Amino acid sequence: MTRNTNAGKASRAKATVPVSPRYCAAKFPPVRTFAPGVEAGRVRLIRQTADKWINGTTLRYWFFDKPARWSAPNAQKNVVRDAFRRWKALGIGLDFAEVKNRADADLRIAFDQTDGSWSYIGTDVRTKRSDPRTMNFGWDLTEDPKEGMDTAIHEIGHTLGFPHEHQNPFAGIVWNEPAVYASLAAPPNRWSKSTTFHNIIEKIVPDTVQGSDWDADSVMHYPFEAGLIDKPLKYRNGITPAGGLSARDRKWALQFYPPIKAKGTPRLLPLQSTALTLAAGQQANFLFKADASRVYEFRTFGSADTVMALYENKSGSSAAIAEDDDSGTERNAHIKTALKAGKEYVLRVRLQYAKSSGKTAVMAW
Ligand SMILES: [Zn+2]
Repeated sequence: MTRNTNAGKASRAKATVPVSPRYCAAKFPPVRTFAPGVEAGRVRLIRQTADKWINGTTLRYWFFDKPARWSAPNAQKNVVRDAFRRWKALGIGLDFAEVKNRADADLRIAFDQTDGSWSYIGTDVRTKRSDPRTMNFGWDLTEDPKEGMDTAIHEIGHTLGFPHEHQNPFAGIVWNEPAVYASLAAPPNRWSKSTTFHNIIEKIVPDTVQGSDWDADSVMHYPFEAGLIDKPLKYRNGITPAGGLSARDRKWALQFYPPIKAKGTPRLLPLQSTALTLAAGQQANFLFKADASRVYEFRTFGSADTVMALYENKSGSSAAIAEDDDSGTERNAHIKTALKAGKEYVLRVRLQYAKSSGKTAVMAW
């Protein structure tokens, strides 16, 4: 997340000029919009999970080996590998796997030291762009082990769909805006006004924030030097998060991505409607065996908004065969795809919003 370039040197040299930490400049997707008439409560619930992955997904990551400026020594890659392990160690339902081929990767990670540290947010990494990177580390992660690890955990946090905590509208931070713009325009960040606005000053749309509190110790929160925050008064002298994943980081990660037990996953049988009793944000998982090689269809029923995705049930295979999201519309999620006889599949259905519970079902045929 951050790295104070002169953390150690400042005291040795007689430097009196304060040096700002280096900050992550995340690349936020536009807030999802809806047709007129979609009620506010529905919009709020859909937005809360808008950029989150379907739980149970294996996110496959890959490191650039060329061009040379995008590659890094193994020691730096190991920091990132360890950061993935720390997220997984929380017990979340997502999985991570390093792959050897770029074509197999969901997350493409570079170490361009001239481009700062950043990531796209959640499922927005899937958007096709001319720049093939989905994450970049702009400073040596091994130089200061603690801050290097926090940087890697922070960028992975963005990839899992988590925004910046200091932009939480419930934080109530009143910035000394001229001081913030001036500090970030100076080295080491050299940010444009727009980058500073989108990564610090701008408040996140309340709909996309979980809960109504503020966690100044979140790994998604930057440290700030004195003079940038006007209010709350106690932060006028700066703010330094504790480092690592906070208690609330853990709680949120497990709320969005609860553990998935492979044992006891129910089977979806052809032509049998299965009622879904889920709260908004919760997900149901089903095994489905194709008894013939043919086209199958999967559909949700009722007035609920759902995201539905179908995967082959084998380890190391994590890309959805098909996915559909009907949230905010009047139609239902629908997948129509050819499956192979004897193979087993996993259908995952996440409820985004339902007017009343128990009025949703899923069926395969
Ligand atoms: Zn960030």
